[in-house]
Amino acid sequence: MMSEIKLVAVFSGGLDSATMMFGLAQKHKLGPENIHAISFDYGQRHRKELDSAAAICGRFGIWHDIVDLTSITSLLGTESVLVNHNLTMPEGHYAQENMKATVVPNRNMIMYSIAAGIAVADQATMLGVGVHAGDHYIYPDCRPAFMVHLSDTIVSGNTGFLAPGFHISTPFLYTTKEHIARHAYELEDWLPKEFIYLTWSCYKGGDIHCGRCGTCVERVEALYNAGIETGHEDPTAYADTEYWKTVKQDA
Ligand SMILES: [Zn+2]
Repeated sequence: MMSEIKLVAVFSGGLDSATMMFGLAQKHKLGPENIHAISFDYGQRHRKELDSAAAICGRFGIWHDIVDLTSITSLLGTESVLVNHNLTMPEGHYAQENMKATVVPNRNMIMYSIAAGIAVADQATMLGVGVHAGDHYIYPDCRPAFMVHLSDTIVSGNTGFLAPGFHISTPFLYTTKEHIARHAYELEDWLPKEFIYLTWSCYKGGDIHCGRCGTCVERVEALYNAGIETGHEDPTAYADTEYWKTVKQDA
């Protein structure tokens, strides 16, 4: 019998990957039984995103696994603020030079490689990834060239073992965060339950979104701008609700 899993989604618990996962579900008419969501614990200090991922999958009845990569954190993480708790998290706009401190070496290659293995095991036809154009500036492993080579590598390394028609789906590879936010609002009209509220973006991993780190600024700006057009309101609680307006002007 063929596997019911059609989509293996690399799912951080954040807005981008949640919108990717539900967007692909809508586009390809997938039910929760057709989706396998994979999250990674790489010792990120915003581990709270893993709780968000679990909560969203629980709410929608999606099969969810968290892959434990913490045994390699110390080998990768001495320079990155995402995993080194002694470093100060940079604040400000995502496109600023200091956000390079958030890079974890080869992170996406490691995560996507594992997710591809799971996709082969599940006989899924799609590996879904939520990278977007706004990530390109800082993160080389989110750029189109990398995704093309990754796809070639996975296909050639698994010839004869992949489900027919297998491909990597990157619906936001050439689009902006604001486009994702608009799509998320549309999906909230389609889905019976709210998911934007449950997603987690903040790199600081406090009780609520800080509103000041790179990913918070990006989130609040995108959801605000998309909301003007669509008439939706950002359901997120931010500790600092005004900061993003000031860095927007500086960027
Ligand atoms: Zn934050």
